[in-house]
Amino acid sequence: MDKIAIVGLGLIGGSIGLKLKGLGTGGKVLGIPRREETLKKALELGAIDEGSLDISKVAEADLVFICTPINLILPKLAEIIPHLRKGAIVTDVGSTKGEIVSKAEKSMPKGTYFVGGHPMAGKEVVGIEAAEANLFEGKTWILTQTSKTNKAALEKVEEVVGGLGAKVVRIDPKTHDLVVGAVSHLPLAAAVALVNVAAEAGEKELVGQCAASGFRDSTRIASGDPVLGRDMFMTNRVALLKHLKALRTRLLELEKDIKKQDSGKIEAFLRQAKDFRDKLYI
Ligand code: NAP
Repeated sequence: MDKIAIVGLGLIGGSIGLKLKGLGTGGKVLGIPRREETLKKALELGAIDEGSLDISKVAEADLVFICTPINLILPKLAEIIPHLRKGAIVTDVGSTKGEIVSKAEKSMPKGTYFVGGHPMAGKEVVGIEAAEANLFEGKTWILTQTSKTNKAALEKVEEVVGGLGAKVVRIDPKTHDLVVGAVSHLPLAAAVALVNVAAEAGEKELVGQCAASGFRDSTRIASGDPVLGRDMFMTNRVALLKHLKALRTRLLELEKDIKKQDSGKIEAFLRQAKDFRDKLYI
């Protein structure tokens, strides 16, 4: 591709730029952030070849990555659409897919294409300063496939994302939201609730002294960006509410078993989780 544009240059957009530039394919990386300061920083870090605050510059790109906060992805797409060249492909990196993909696919003008995306990679710190060229190395990158998805556009995005070091998995948006709701959004809700319960459990200083690696590992994601978390919860309501209900049921069962001192059931509950989790990260 001659030119790839990245709209929104934070942790994810900046990391895409750094890796694309590092590949040295000869294609140019154009950055379109919100603030002049971010543009300067992206150029300094070598995350883009050129940049502008003018969204109409997307007209030069064959492929556009939208890497803004979730609730800005559709408004940004609406701003981008009038400027797209024929054959241009737009993809995004938003953590929820249902609403974004269904509205985006419907709004693309003839001869331009949208492919929804979500890299399953990230960290607690956001902003261009936190960007890393190897953020996506070996990580799953979900691309959405629906009856409206253009096959050639999907394959092109797959090729570029593969070049970023990621392993592409094609999933429909509804399944994406259900599965990612269970492995990403529900754990965030649980981790945040856990931290808030622990903070109220006793003297803050003592909690700090006693919270060791187990607490740190099980609550790491609670240190993430609250705005990103809020947007994930708000835009994946159906799946998240389903999972929260299931979690509540499981906790109530455990509570009952503990009250009844049913050691067999308690151990079976723990063992079921251990057996599944031990196989996840071999
Ligand atoms: P981030 O580091 O905060 O970056 C967001 C970027 O969007 C910033 O560069 C910001 O610009 C820019 N932006 C904000 N408002 C804008 C606007 N009105 N117009 C243009 N640009 C605007 O966030 P991030 O972590 O990269 O997240 C971006 C997307 O990646 C989200 O949709 C999120 O769901 C997805 N994602 C995040 C993670 C993660 O772990 N963080 C993982 C997977 C997917 P300024 O720098 O100028 O303020």
